[in-house]
Amino acid sequence: MGAGPAGLSAAATVSAAGYKAVMVEKEETLGGAPILSGYAKLVPSGEWAKDAIGRMVSRVEDDASVAIHKGVKVAQLEGEVGNFTATLSNGEKVQAGAVVLATGFTHFDSINKPEWGFGTFEDVLTTTQMEQMVSAGKIACPSDGRVPERVAILLCVGSRDRQIGREWCSKICCTVSANLAMEIKELSPQTDVFIYYMDIRTFGLYEDRFYWRSQEEFKTKFVKARIAEVTASGDGRLLVKGEDTLVKRPIIIPFDIVVHAIGMDPNEENPEISSVFGVALEKHGFIERAEHYTNTCGTTRRGVYAAGAAYGPETIDDSISQGAAAGSRAVADLNALVQKAG
Ligand SMILES: Cc1cc2nc3c(=O)[nH]c(=O)nc-3n(C[C@H](O)[C@H](O)[C@H](O)COP(=O)(O)OP(=O)(O)OC[C@H]3O[C@@H](n4cnc5c(N)ncnc54)[C@H](O)[C@@H]3O)c2cc1C
Ligand code: SF4
Repeated sequence: MGAGPAGLSAAATVSAAGYKAVMVEKEETLGGAPILSGYAKLVPSGEWAKDAIGRMVSRVEDDASVAIHKGVKVAQLEGEVGNFTATLSNGEKVQAGAVVLATGFTHFDSINKPEWGFGTFEDVLTTTQMEQMVSAGKIACPSDGRVPERVAILLCVGSRDRQIGREWCSKICCTVSANLAMEIKELSPQTDVFIYYMDIRTFGLYEDRFYWRSQEEFKTKFVKARIAEVTASGDGRLLVKGEDTLVKRPIIIPFDIVVHAIGMDPNEENPEISSVFGVALEKHGFIERAEHYTNTCGTTRRGVYAAGAAYGPETIDDSISQGAAAGSRAVADLNALVQKAG
């Protein structure tokens, strides 16, 4: 279920192990968020999303052991591990021994943070919209086409925000934003980029390649601040108002474009997925894991596994690994079942 990085990886793994996989994807296009939302160059590979994820899509499309159903969902799942029957929304029935839920996440909708200007001002964008601009090769203000003198990227929009019920860190948006700052600067060297942050979480090997490089080579300015609001100034620019939390003083800086580094919400369809597949959700609404250490990739229902951002905020690399793990786990458990029966 789901043909994003995790699902594509799970299907390829099942096929590589010599079994048949059936992919069910609700959209008409395969590739998940990086393709459906038009991401630009991926972190950390630096490869264009359409090339990197495109290779994953071709691998399963060219594989006779993978059957692909696009534009449909699973409406009903009956049976048990080793012998499930899934009824698709077009009425077709699919037999399967195990199910992998790789149904991913939903991008946070910045409308839910109205005081930060999205939906009110044309030049307030999300990271996915800015990535689409980078992919198109030109940085310009949507309102009037001028080249921006200054761009602000606001981190943690829809993440680490208890006021709006999003307590979690979305893991990848600090690194994605540092990368985006460099991409903006490459396309538009005269534009200054500021990143407003609470903490920077460019974990592991991302620290030097993204955080330090964006400052030292691309002159990105990092401002530790709490943002209060984004308003319009008299000359048509945007004012980012907040408190500089290092010097504990109010700051107001004019910008031409403000970018919301949006986080990862649970898939908005998770309540439906939970009821169709009979799996529990954790308190934030992501899919609940089974016992971590002995039932890796499991959910609360036997024979139904999960992988990637369906479990919570995840990177592409980790989603791919989890997809491969879930595919192998499903095959290994089914083999064990067959051996026990025989
Ligand atoms: C702005 C932004 C930029 C990012 N950039 C990067 C980056 O550069 N590098 C990186 O490592 N990570 C990045 N990420 C994280 C990345 O998007 C995720 O790691 C990745 O998409 C997770 O893959 P997935 O397959 O688990 O889920 P998804 O990509 O969400 O794929 C899930 C698939 O399941 C399908 N689906 C959902 N519900 C159903 C259903 N009910 N029935 C059938 N199909 C369904 C969806 O249509 C989709 O195709 C970024 C995240 C954000 C928010
Ligand atoms: S990765 Fe960075 S921007 Fe994203 S939620 Fe965590 S701290 Fe905020």
